[in-house]
Amino acid sequence: MKNALTFDVEEYFHAEAFSRVLRPEEWPTLESRVTRSTERLLDILDRDGVRATFFVLGWVADRHPALVREIASLGHEIACHGHGHRMIQHLSRDEFVRDVTQAKRALEDATGRPVLGYRAPTFSIMRETLWSLDVLAEAGFRYDSSIFPIVHDRYGIPDAPRFPHRLKTPSGCEIIEFPPSTMMLMGRRVPVAGGGDFRLFPYRVTRRAIRRLNRREGQPAMVYLHPWEFDPDQPRLPVGPLTRFRHLVNVGRTEARLTRLLSDCSFASAADVLNGTGLLVSGEAR
Ligand SMILES: [Zn+2]
Repeated sequence: MKNALTFDVEEYFHAEAFSRVLRPEEWPTLESRVTRSTERLLDILDRDGVRATFFVLGWVADRHPALVREIASLGHEIACHGHGHRMIQHLSRDEFVRDVTQAKRALEDATGRPVLGYRAPTFSIMRETLWSLDVLAEAGFRYDSSIFPIVHDRYGIPDAPRFPHRLKTPSGCEIIEFPPSTMMLMGRRVPVAGGGDFRLFPYRVTRRAIRRLNRREGQPAMVYLHPWEFDPDQPRLPVGPLTRFRHLVNVGRTEARLTRLLSDCSFASAADVLNGTGLLVSGEAR
């Protein structure tokens, strides 16, 4: 079974961990590292002939359109991570409309192809921001991958479905939801297949979780990572020890772990996986 491999393409300083110590006006003054770390990632995928989905931040696409074109030219899916990387609960509806349409247009201008998928900054589609699904459907997105079905301090809808499904938005439109993967551990949902969790747990835990999803539950996994997780030399920003730990734990091992994962499990873009499940209509996936 093919699993979805996805990357949120943003600079290391866009991570929510730094939102308290950095203002967006300061971003242009910081060293850009996204091109180098994304190209490293593209090399890893190329070695194994794996195609993935890249949820690119509009802020990055505006500054590095050639990077977006390069990712697309290698056969990967370009999807949208919004423009300004603000969690949706901090935006009005109008601000959110502007954020996603600006980012979608930048990505479609760069590649000349329609963008089907969206992932919110910091998985910020929660109960209080479900209205954002209406905006996404109206803007022409076909699937979303932002609802984390867990209990978490920053995000999540604890009882949301764990697997890809069609969802009715509050105003009655339809969108496909492909949630980040969880495994059941002693009756609780545990995130194991992305970001800090992927780096924190021993590699075999992630592999076992994906195999169990595929074989026992008959479902594809959704793996998510960021280019900055492949950049151990990124500058250290002035945050507390817990925040720094969450941001950087085992960051020097991500590349080796992903390489092992690519040989142990089978991967494709999110659109291709949804196409395989029949949720996306054939011909729309790349
Ligand atoms: Zn992000």
